[in-house]
Amino acid sequence: MKTLLEDRIHHGLAHCPICTHTVPAELDLKGKYARVAAGQKCPRCRSSLEVAAVIQIPEAA
Ligand SMILES: [Zn+2]
Repeated sequence: MKTLLEDRIHHGLAHCPICTHTVPAELDLKGKYARVAAGQKCPRCRSSLEVAAVIQIPEAA
């Protein structure tokens, strides 16, 4: 059984401010806006992505 938390997680893109690359990230969709899901790290520089800006939100139409 899926939880409500899992239902909010979608794969999108985030912009890492440390290495300035756009990297894939799991996004936590809350209402009309998205945040990078907690606890993720940039696959390039291993910095926390919690401060990264969301670039692409899936099913944003
Ligand atoms: Zn990075």
